Amino acid sequence: MKYTEIMVRYGELSTKGKNRKDFVSQLGKNTRAVLKGFPEVVVKAQRDRMHVALNGADDLKVIAKLKGVFGIENFYPSIKLEKNMDVIKKTALEMVQQQFKSGKTFKINTRRQDKSFQYHTDQINNMLGDFILENVPGISVDVKNPDIAVRVEIRQNGAFLSSELIHGAGGLPVGTGGRATMMLSGGIDSPVATYMAMKRGVRIDMIHFYSPPYTSEQALAKAKQLTSVLAGYSGSIQFIQVPFTKIQETIKEKVPEGYLMTIQRRMMLRLAAKITTDRHCTGVFTGEALGQVASQTLESMMAINDVTNLPVLRPLVSMDKTEIIKIAEKIGTYDLSILPYEDCCTIFTPPSPKTKPNLEKSRKFEKYIDVDGLMKNALENIKITNIKPDENFLNSQQDVFAELL
Ligand code: ATP
Ligand code: MG
Repeated sequence: MKYTEIMVRYGELSTKGKNRKDFVSQLGKNTRAVLKGFPEVVVKAQRDRMHVALNGADDLKVIAKLKGVFGIENFYPSIKLEKNMDVIKKTALEMVQQQFKSGKTFKINTRRQDKSFQYHTDQINNMLGDFILENVPGISVDVKNPDIAVRVEIRQNGAFLSSELIHGAGGLPVGTGGRATMMLSGGIDSPVATYMAMKRGVRIDMIHFYSPPYTSEQALAKAKQLTSVLAGYSGSIQFIQVPFTKIQETIKEKVPEGYLMTIQRRMMLRLAAKITTDRHCTGVFTGEALGQVASQTLESMMAINDVTNLPVLRPLVSMDKTEIIKIAEKIGTYDLSILPYEDCCTIFTPPSPKTKPNLEKSRKFEKYIDVDGLMKNALENIKITNIKPDENFLNSQQDVFAELL
């Protein structure tokens, strides 16, 4: 059975005024962008919901794309029919037969927008219900908790039938929550944090520190590949690579070992903050979680945060590693994250970093290096690439999504 239209229901949104309008128009824009490869599809984002007319496009492929769009709570793939009860009956029966296994229950749920249609809601429910009971031996009605719920909508332009409710990604449309930068390593956490930032509507610019020759070309490529997977949820992402070798070498030479980690982090955040304000972004996201490693204690966060007044946002702050890994697997970043390329931090990690660095000492030890000169040099050598969504990844997900149908 091939679907002809998808009815999309919005997630949480302010019910009033301009916010709602912005939400709806941004969601329409984002949806059209992910469906760019399907020129026949027409997206109409209206006040209460969005209609995606397939016009012959492959329904499974379109559904797979919609599943990644933030701001969509759920959607119903539907079949458009002429407003003729015989046709509606026949299709409703087919839908139920496709999903029926013995002992199952069903319910018909009709909404009638077109008040001129010759039958009213209860009549339609009864006519279809009776027809299915007559033709599907062993089935029964359960109006409270049916196994199969067939939705019928009688609208001006046709009758629409659906029987599957598919969960969307939830959250808010990317672009409605402002713009921020993300400090992306090649690890498991920061890609998950990126996903969560995007889910709240924030458009992300990626910042990645790399340290050739200590880190390989593969490590950089991996960060870009992760960005490409994440771009599948937001549209293209600007990837800003910042050379960090000179800074790390200088710190290693000048700063006492216990503070290597803290001063490196302070330099990273200072650079990230400068890039953030230069690009008119208003916050920096990281993948830190409390207590995970030495640099992620409250004391450490205080010593690092000291270098900026910008909000430093940590969506994973109170999550367990196992919870984070589950999300990483779901969003398709895990397999890339565990590839074994050295990150710039792991290489310069001292054997016993201070878990409770002292703020005053951090400030003092930092005076041993030329902060401004090193910053200037790194900023002059940043490279920015526009990274597009990874079509291969999205296509590979279709089987996963198809299983839902
Ligand atoms: P992740 O899994 O994200 O790498 P982690 O558990 O390895 O995190 P750390 O190495 O302490 O933890 O890094 C903490 C955070 O600092 C990262 O989540 C990321 O936001 C940022 N960060 C670390 N390394 C880099 C890097 N090379 N480039 C950009 N940001 C980085
Ligand atoms: Mg890491």
